[in-house]
Amino acid sequence: MEQIEIVTNNEERRKINKTVLHSLDEKLRGELFMPDSDGSYEKARTVWNGLIHKKPGVIVQCRGAVDVIEAVNFARQEDIKLSVRGGGHNVAGLAVSDGGMVIDLSGMRGVHVDPIRRTARAEGGALLGDLDHETQAFGLSAPIGVVSETGIAGLTLHGGYGWLSRKFGMTIDNLLSADVVTADGNLLRASADENPDLFWALKGGGGNFGVVTSFEYRLHPVGPDVWFSAPMYPLEKADEAMRFFRDYMSSAPEELGCIAVFWSVPPVPEIPANLHGIPVVIFLGCYTGPFEEGEKVLKPLREFDTPIADLSAPMKFKEVQKALDADYPDGRLYYWKSLYMTELTDDAIRAVASIAAERPSPITSVDLWYLKGAASRVGIEETPFASRDATYLFALESNWDDPAESEKNIAWSRKVFNDMKQFSTGSSYLNFPGFAEDRETLVKSAYGRNYERLRQIKAKYDPGNLFHGNFNIKL
Ligand code: FAD
Repeated sequence: MEQIEIVTNNEERRKINKTVLHSLDEKLRGELFMPDSDGSYEKARTVWNGLIHKKPGVIVQCRGAVDVIEAVNFARQEDIKLSVRGGGHNVAGLAVSDGGMVIDLSGMRGVHVDPIRRTARAEGGALLGDLDHETQAFGLSAPIGVVSETGIAGLTLHGGYGWLSRKFGMTIDNLLSADVVTADGNLLRASADENPDLFWALKGGGGNFGVVTSFEYRLHPVGPDVWFSAPMYPLEKADEAMRFFRDYMSSAPEELGCIAVFWSVPPVPEIPANLHGIPVVIFLGCYTGPFEEGEKVLKPLREFDTPIADLSAPMKFKEVQKALDADYPDGRLYYWKSLYMTELTDDAIRAVASIAAERPSPITSVDLWYLKGAASRVGIEETPFASRDATYLFALESNWDDPAESEKNIAWSRKVFNDMKQFSTGSSYLNFPGFAEDRETLVKSAYGRNYERLRQIKAKYDPGNLFHGNFNIKL
């Protein structure tokens, strides 16, 4: 009888008869792939980060909540290690594992908007662009991230920052309910009124509590016409630029989301070719307040000095959300880490400027997200997400194409991370986690005093720790 090798919850390898897997396949509306399936398996095991090459034992591509229930029950009964794939964009590749079962939601991308109630319900495999496409048709938006190909699930379950978070809060602050398949195979609704403990835990507690088959978000009127900000200044101006950014953002309207990005002039046709590749700092942002105010709000950012180039322009919000997509293609090599900062001291400014000058890859960026606004007015215990008092998120996005350069880029990123710790709170954003090394420390510092409550809720909904291929809350 034909068998395949799988990995159990205790990381042991064992064989399972294919006929047993076929019995699961027969119950599905979606599809089931094993390593000897045709090219579909290869495609389904591939995630966004080209550094990740995991070979799962079985991939269940679900079409709806019932497929998810069947897969969860099967993994529990057969003792197979589980991971869950939303958009597959987690930089550490947590959506897949060697030898385990992947519950793959990439076939579940439906979005339904209620323009009267200003809500949207999106399936767990939806991408940000799916949500924007449906909501912007009504001039509405949910506060999500800034690259349209990212999955809503991982983004939401670990927080969610974007152009709208200063005005409307993080993605979790706009979550109204979620449908979740828990470890016992039940489908539960979690909201302020139903299973409120589970609902609280999902607002930042990650994939620990079950498979979220759909998320319901509060929507806000946004655009459709907004102002995109992208003036680029030479790196020699880095210190002054950061001091200006620190001062300007502290009183800028909350409708302005902005990141100081240290990068290289992108090779786009709008910019003369002789400027491509020059190291710059970009005030990358989006103003979503009254359209006629936009030019005035962006003026100081655009006139801080003489820009090398300036891509600022009025745009459709939906286009702003896609403006960075081309810079993050599938399969490129990525290693991203982050640290929260409560202030940007002059010493920290000097450190960031010298890091920016030493980037080993021209497509690597060093980013300072300005966070203050609605997201920071949410109490630390209102959601599991503990870093509410941070003013900045220092995010290091190491990006490169040549595998021979991997060791050098990863070593440099780890050194930068260690050097920057002294200017930070010591906590990281779980959505920019490197390879999730030192995972227990990472997780405990991300949740701070909320960790214990998360542990209790985990014990209630997943006492066997079936969902542990993630930022695990240990029982
Ligand atoms: P996946 O890799 O599919 O999953 C990530 C984790 O979530 C895994 O542990 C998985 O098990 C769990 N999970 C996924 N789906 C489910 C589900 N349905 N139910 C339960 N658990 C689930 N973050 C921001 O906040 N703002 C940004 O602007 C932003 N921009 C980004 C741009 C790019 C190009 C990339 C790659 C990432 C960006 N991020 C941003 C980070 C992003 O939020 C994370 O990478 C996030 O994990 C992506 O979610 P995903 O569904 O694609 O992840």
